[in-house]
This record gives sequence, C-alpha cells and structure tokens, in this order.
Amino acid sequence: MLPGTSDPDALPPVVDHGPRDNPRVALTFDADLTPWMQRQLEQGHVESYADLRTIEILEQEQVPATFFLTGMWVEQYPEVTGRLADNPRFELANHSYAHGAFTDDCYDLPQVPADEMYEDVARTFEIIEPYGGRQTRYFRFPGLCHDEQALRALAPLGLTVVDGDVISGDAFATGWEPVVQATLDQVQPGSVIVLHVTDETAPFTDAALPHILAGLAERGLEPVTLSELLDGGE
Ligand SMILES: [Zn+2]
Repeated sequence: MLPGTSDPDALPPVVDHGPRDNPRVALTFDADLTPWMQRQLEQGHVESYADLRTIEILEQEQVPATFFLTGMWVEQYPEVTGRLADNPRFELANHSYAHGAFTDDCYDLPQVPADEMYEDVARTFEIIEPYGGRQTRYFRFPGLCHDEQALRALAPLGLTVVDGDVISGDAFATGWEPVVQATLDQVQPGSVIVLHVTDETAPFTDAALPHILAGLAERGLEPVTLSELLDGGE
C-alpha cells in the first residue's frame, strides 16, 4: 500500500507535522503551475518554473525530499519529473492539476467547482503514476486551503492531506535571508517544511537551501521523506 493511503469511506486525515519526540523533519517542495503561468512561458515572459538548481543541491548533498507536483507542471516538465522519480531519496506527491482553489477564499486562485475536485486530483495521480519511483497518496491543497466540503470531495481517493507547520515564505520572497530565518525560527522535531521548486515564483529557494540544511544540522534535525517522518519508521 502506498504511503498516505487512507480509508476511502472516511474523511481524509489532515497532518501538518510528524512525531515531536524524534529529531527528524521533512523538506517538501511544491511544483505549482497554473494556466496563467503557462501563458507566461508560452509568451516568453518567463524562462522556467522548474528550479533545477534547488534539485541539484538536493541531489549533490544526498538530501531526502518530497515533491508535491501539479499535473500541469508534470506535463510541462516531463524530463525533470523523471529525474525526480529516478532519485531513490525523493518521494512524489500530488498538488492538484492546475493549482486552483478548493475553497471560496484562497489567495485569489481560480476556484475548482466542488463537483470537479475529485476528478482534478484523481487525474493528477494518474499523470504522476507512470513515472514510477516513490509514489504516495499524499495530497497538498494549493495555498493549503481546505474545508469540509473539499475533504469530503476527495475522500473516495483514499489519500492523506499534508499541510505543513513551517511556512518558509519562499514564494515571492525578495531575498534568501528571510526564507532561512523564517524556516529556522519555526522548525522543530517532526516539522513539515513547505518550500517551492518553481524558480520564477520562488527565486531564492536555491540560495536559501544550503543555509537551511546547515541550520537543520546545527539543531540536530535530520531531513527524511514525508513517509519516513509520518510513519515513524526508518
Ligand atoms: Zn502551491
């Protein structure tokens, strides 16, 4: 059974951190893509929404990480997705198809109608699945916005909703220092750290990452994948 699998007859579990008595944390990276962002690429206003430098650092430093992918990002970056799937330290998770809002008030994101929520997330699992690697049934709502209606809509998918207890603020950051400071100020054993691999909309994640990794090491906190953090296993 894939990590994050839940009872489809009950509301999905919602977690925002792992056990507090174990000095481990999960670095999670969201790969957002929206129709608006895709137009920026097509019109040449933006070069890339795939932060290869951040991925390289994780690869070089052999750091475990979990990636929450939108279906649109996977379709835009199949080779990068394959590279993530091929890394035995990386886990793949679901961040919706087009990064829409699953509640009626979520950072001005266009809303996913209630009767389309199930299909949006189901389709994204189907897009990620063929890449293999470490698949999961973890799902993160865009903007972390969810309510009971959204949870009810997704219940039949048998997934686990993952928020996070450390909001790095890397999205739309204007420098790397605040990202490092926000992360290290909030982090504690069991933390789920929310970051992005979107480059243009999180331009300082790569510069912040080495400092975050050093700060975690100083605090004796070991990065692990989400399934390792939440299952409490090795
Ligand atoms: Zn997102």
